[in-house]
Amino acid sequence: MKRIGVLTSGGDSPGMNAAVRAVVRKAIYQDIEVYGIYQGYNGLISGNIKKLELGSVGDIIHRGGTMLYTARCEEFKTKEGQQKGIEQLKKYGIEGLVVIGGDGSYQGAKALTKLGYPCVGVPGTIDNDIPGTEFTIGFDTALNTVIDAIDKIRDTATSHERTFIIEVMGRNAGDLALWSGLAGGAETILIPEDNYKMDDIVDRLKKGQERGKKHSIIIVAEGVMSGNEFAKQFTEATGMDTRVSVLGHIQRGGTPTASDRVLASRFGARAVELLMDGKGGRAVGIEKNKLVDYDIIEALGKQHEINLNMYKLSKELSI
Ligand code: ADP
Repeated sequence: MKRIGVLTSGGDSPGMNAAVRAVVRKAIYQDIEVYGIYQGYNGLISGNIKKLELGSVGDIIHRGGTMLYTARCEEFKTKEGQQKGIEQLKKYGIEGLVVIGGDGSYQGAKALTKLGYPCVGVPGTIDNDIPGTEFTIGFDTALNTVIDAIDKIRDTATSHERTFIIEVMGRNAGDLALWSGLAGGAETILIPEDNYKMDDIVDRLKKGQERGKKHSIIIVAEGVMSGNEFAKQFTEATGMDTRVSVLGHIQRGGTPTASDRVLASRFGARAVELLMDGKGGRAVGIEKNKLVDYDIIEALGKQHEINLNMYKLSKELSI
């Protein structure tokens, strides 16, 4: 393999830049040329492709977002779009591609793989919802952003003796809600992987109140419902006044944590190694702190699983 490409796609996540840097530097270290494909699959179809040098990825390891930009591209969901992408790659003599993104982006990589083009997926999303890995690039940073917000909101919740409802991202996965709720000491965590019972929530709240607790924090994963919708249901059930905070896109940005930068660097370098070994159609991941890789089609056939023991623990600790 003499020349590879790299793109970022779908929702951006902090640490994507560190992954791009790792792909570029590892490849050049191995005497492989690297081309950056800008604006995800859109840029692949239109040929927004430029050669990257060692210096092209200088000074980005600590920056959130992605220097390659990202986009959503409907055309790439079609065979014609995918063929156009492969033609561009061939035109530039690019023999393999690293795709950094979430599950939608993986679908694109899977489609290229099915068409016989070597592609390696690197999991980059704050949602932590990719099968075949325990962690995705950006999850740790987003988690720390949420914790910071919870800590601040807690000050107000305590002072005003109020119940706060905080809506966090995560799409259909409850990881961000669960981890932030556990680390932030939330009284209640609502995740899409479990059906909540309003009676239980009210019961816990009442018990807390009887013990003299006058404030509480409820974390609602966006995959369950909106924070405002839950607030409505909660007020109807309890007659209690609440305040809602929707954290929104601040969860996506910011300086990546050390953990995300290290993870991204390891993933990016491994993706290059796989392409060098002629192993296309793989998805990299981490399990028990060891790098792993799976057949991308097989990986996408699996379900991401939330840690239900941790969910149980969060309930035990917030009695
Ligand atoms: P994420 O990668 O963060 O999950 P999206 O779900 O928006 O984000 O997917 C990003 C892009 O991946 C889409 O805009 C599209 O170009 C491509 N993609 C998604 N699903 C498919 C599919 N089934 N086949 C081919 N490409 C896809």
